[in-house]
Amino acid sequence: MKIQEETSLASLTSLGVGGNAEKLIIVESAEELIKSLRENNQYTLLGYGCNSLISDSGITGVTISPRGGNITFEDNVVVADSGVWWDDLVMESIDNGLWGLELTSEVPGSVGAATYINITAYGQALSDSVIWVEAWDKVLNKVIKLAGDQLNWCYKSSFFQAEGERYVVIRTAFQLSYTPTHELTYQKALDVAQEMNLDISLLSDRRRIIVEARIRAGSIWRKDDENAERTAGSFFRNPIVGPELAEKIISFDESGKTAEQIKNMNKVHGGSEVRVSAAHVMLASGFTRGKTWNKVKLNDKNVLKIETLPGATAQEVYDVMKEIQKTCQEKVGVNLEPEVQIIGDFS
Ligand SMILES: Cc1cc2nc3c(=O)[nH]c(=O)nc-3n(C[C@H](O)[C@H](O)[C@H](O)COP(=O)(O)OP(=O)(O)OC[C@H]3O[C@@H](n4cnc5c(N)ncnc54)[C@H](O)[C@@H]3O)c2cc1C
Repeated sequence: MKIQEETSLASLTSLGVGGNAEKLIIVESAEELIKSLRENNQYTLLGYGCNSLISDSGITGVTISPRGGNITFEDNVVVADSGVWWDDLVMESIDNGLWGLELTSEVPGSVGAATYINITAYGQALSDSVIWVEAWDKVLNKVIKLAGDQLNWCYKSSFFQAEGERYVVIRTAFQLSYTPTHELTYQKALDVAQEMNLDISLLSDRRRIIVEARIRAGSIWRKDDENAERTAGSFFRNPIVGPELAEKIISFDESGKTAEQIKNMNKVHGGSEVRVSAAHVMLASGFTRGKTWNKVKLNDKNVLKIETLPGATAQEVYDVMKEIQKTCQEKVGVNLEPEVQIIGDFS
């Protein structure tokens, strides 16, 4: 366990902005996490900061950050501590010949946050394979075990988000399979497979396909890469709109795909044809890739990724978020909700 006072959180988030933590406790195992939760009743939780915008005034009180932990396999069941880097879990599962997590290769962040958020990529959601979660219950002041099928999973949401601060994910268990569990239907990934002559029925090739597709989409962030683009991934959730508005928004796609192909992609990404891509909503509202506001810009490949340039402040990112929300509401009548967690005070 490492304890630091008045330490900068900017370097602990993928956006690279934000103020100090009054007291930061970095825990490296499930046991250390439980100990720190027992000792501190009030805290803010931070994983690897890949989905968080922390204000310039920082976080008062205690911040607990699980970073590190164990992965254990028993036949086709794998259990990971919340501080495990998600992609380490994916890679070890693949090395063990187990299917079920491979389409989420290279989603950055911790197992705990992945469970809290129900990460989803290329048609595979974490919730598809969770069998149980051990969580700290702040009210009962103890660790409890929750069955995976009782956790109200939805598109990028979970029981844990809905319950607010009551629970902290300690460990998550996944039931994986020695045979394929998900089809790969996402067109851009299939294009990669064809171009690179990779076989979608082979587990190791699936990972290579996904990693390449993510590189092409500007969706890679690696924790030890100092030159990584400073982004929190897709900034907004894909919204649900009516069928008519969905058609209108889809018509702003510039990739040359047919409306049917796009609807299929929307289904794979968001579970429904009328959950349209937030990126299409932004394009329909006049935002373009690479648009820049002083030290904040939209990614050159993916309009949905807000990036910071050196010297940016968290308030600038927040202001850009507000401007995008306001414009999308005015121009297309869609309320874009942030997928990124907004932590601390903003003006
Ligand atoms: C380049 C890039 C690409 C991305 N691509 C995808 C993608 O394809 N699919 C996808 O779903 N996401 C994607 N994301 C978002 C991000 O990877 C996930 O949300 C990830 O789960 C964040 O993990 P983290 O540990 O960094 O979370 P943090 O930002 O540290 O925390 C996020 C939230 O989780 C809470 N939390 C953290 N740990 C716990 C815990 N143990 N128990 C309860 N709550 C906890 C925090 O309090 C906070 O509210 C992407 C992000 C980036 C930067």
